[in-house]
Amino acid sequence: KFNTNVGQHILKNPGVADDTVLEIGPGTGNITTRILEKARKCIAIELDPRMAAEVTKRVQGTPAQKKLEVLLGDAIKTEFPPFDVCISNTPYQISSPLVFKLLSMPNPPRTAVLMFQKEFAQRLVARPGDTLYCRLSVNAQFFARITHVLKVGKANFKPPPQVESAVVRITPKTGAEKPKFNFAEMDGMLRITFTRKNRTLRASFVSKEVLAMLARNYRVYASMNGIDVDDSLVEGDAGDDDDDDADMDMDDDAAADGEAQGDDEEFGGMDVDDAA
Ligand code: SAM
Repeated sequence: KFNTNVGQHILKNPGVADDTVLEIGPGTGNITTRILEKARKCIAIELDPRMAAEVTKRVQGTPAQKKLEVLLGDAIKTEFPPFDVCISNTPYQISSPLVFKLLSMPNPPRTAVLMFQKEFAQRLVARPGDTLYCRLSVNAQFFARITHVLKVGKANFKPPPQVESAVVRITPKTGAEKPKFNFAEMDGMLRITFTRKNRTLRASFVSKEVLAMLARNYRVYASMNGIDVDDSLVEGDAGDDDDDDADMDMDDDAAADGEAQGDDEEFGGMDVDDAA
């Protein structure tokens, strides 16, 4: 029925052809042009005006031109337009904020296929018991199914980066699968839980600083809810704590793993740093 001589290779899965794809960081457009071959529309958010100009120029005068919309700006600060699928060779500086921006959307995309530095990808998919299992793994897996798609060696990039990369697929949970708890509270607990590797949970929760922070938070909660607080509640007194092991290192295991510091800062929630 179809005339393949004139390119009538009709997509069997019309879902793909109907999709609006959001691409983060199109650069010169190597992935963008491939997306435009398949998708109904591609909206690309690019921080660098020279790159934005380049990708725009690349499709100029081609049929793909009217399917591409380039938004100039920081993907983390830009309000996302409606879209179905997110694709990105993610600039590594925004790995964590991008994942959490996507997962905290009221209507998250159907799926996201994202390339990250290998270690970040490994932490996203890590399971309990794995060395890299961390706050990022727990939080991300609460909100999405995450699978490893493929490894991408350094040689595939120009200029070659210092680390290997990997592609993961993130499929946000929907409906009844979506967690109902208060994210800020859960994340606050996870921050304490993952403060130190090889430390018992009890040790983390009874450290002076954590107890003082919990007391302070409880006082705020109590005052906002008209609850009388028992004066014997432990008071914050981090100053005289000379127990090295009990200090507050809230950069969690990311720092210990040699990842960029502040990597998980976009997880939101109860900020223990503020309380220290
Ligand atoms: N997609 C291209 C590719 O795979 O060849 C380029 C990927 S390159 C790793 C990342 C791109 O993201 C660069 O073009 C960079 O300018 C852009 N970028 C960096 N930070 C960004 C941000 N916060 N928001 C949007 N784009 C950003």
